[in-house]
Amino acid sequence: MNGRCVVTGGAGFLGSHLCDRLLNEGYEVICIDNLLTGSMRNIEQFEGNERFSFIRQDVTTYLSIEGPLDFVFHFASPASPIDYIMFPIQTLKVGALGVHKTLGLAKAKNAVHVLASTSEVYGDPLVHPQKEDYWGNVNPIGPRGVYDEAKRFAEAMAMAYYRYHRVKSRIVRIFNTYGPRMRARDGRVVPAFICQALKEEPITVFGDGSQTRSFCYVSDLVEGIWRLAKSNISTPVNIGNPYELTVREFADVILSLTGSSSEIVHEALPKDDPKVRKPDITKAKAELGWEPVVSLEEGLRQAIKYFKETIDI
Ligand code: UDP
Repeated sequence: MNGRCVVTGGAGFLGSHLCDRLLNEGYEVICIDNLLTGSMRNIEQFEGNERFSFIRQDVTTYLSIEGPLDFVFHFASPASPIDYIMFPIQTLKVGALGVHKTLGLAKAKNAVHVLASTSEVYGDPLVHPQKEDYWGNVNPIGPRGVYDEAKRFAEAMAMAYYRYHRVKSRIVRIFNTYGPRMRARDGRVVPAFICQALKEEPITVFGDGSQTRSFCYVSDLVEGIWRLAKSNISTPVNIGNPYELTVREFADVILSLTGSSSEIVHEALPKDDPKVRKPDITKAKAELGWEPVVSLEEGLRQAIKYFKETIDI
C-alpha cells in the first residue's frame, strides 16, 4: 500500500473517478459521502476491495478517522445548477463548514489537502479566457451564489490553513467536466443533451445558445488533479479543456454523434448563466506538465455509450 486517502464526495461523479485512480495508484481510500447527490452505484465496483471503505456521513460534522492519512480530497458538494438551487443551504454548508472539517483533518494528520474548487469562482467572467489571477464577477445573492460563494469561501479557508497552519493545501479550479457516472437527470448540459438525443426528445437549448463552455473529459481532469495533489503548488490551478464552443454548437455535435433527429427548442436562460467560459491552462501546462489529451468527440463517444447502457430509452 502506498498510503491512505480520504475522499469526501467519493460516491459522486468526480469523487468516484478519483477513488478509482487512487486505488489504481495503490492507495487505501476512505470515501465519505452523505449520498445527497452521490450514489452507491458509483462505488459498487469497489465492493470487496479491502483497500476501499465507505462512511456515510455529512462532512459538515466532525470527521474522525483513525490512523495516518496522506491526502484529504474535499470533493463533496452538489455541483449542478439544479442541484444547488434545490439544496442551497446544504451547498453553502458543505463548501464552508465542510472545508473547515476537512482542513482540520488534514492539519491533524499532516496530510495534503486538495480542494475541489470551480470555474464558478469567476462568476459571469469579464476576462476571457479565465486565468487564475482573475478575481471574478459573482452575484453573491443570485441563485448560483450559494455554490460560487461557498467555493470562494473554501478557497479563502484553504489559503488561511496554508498560511497560518502550514497545511499542504492544493486548490483545483475545475471547469465543466463530463463522462460516465454523471446522473442522467442532473440538469447539466452534457447528460441533458445526450439523453434527449438518445430518446429523440427535443434538445433544450437555454437562451439563444450563444453562451460558451469548454468540456473536459473526466480522465483528463483526474490526471490533472493527481498531478496537482503531488505538486507543491498552494495557489489555485485551473484544470479544464480549453476547447470552447457555444451551447448551440454543442447541441449539433451531440445530434451528429448520436445520429438523432431530435429538434432543437429554446428555453429561458437561467439567471446569472455565465455568457462565456474557457480555462487558461498556461499554469497547469507549465507547472504540472498537464494538458488534456481526450478530444471532445472521443470523450463524448464514451459518455454516449454510458448513457445508452444506463438510461431507459
Ligand atoms: N444548458 C442548456 N440546456 C440544458 C442544460 C444547460 O442550454 O438543458 C446550458 C446552460 O444554460 C449553460 C450551459 O448549458 O449555459 C452549461 O450548463 P450546465 O448546467 O452544464 O453547467 P454550467 O456550466 O452552467 O455550470
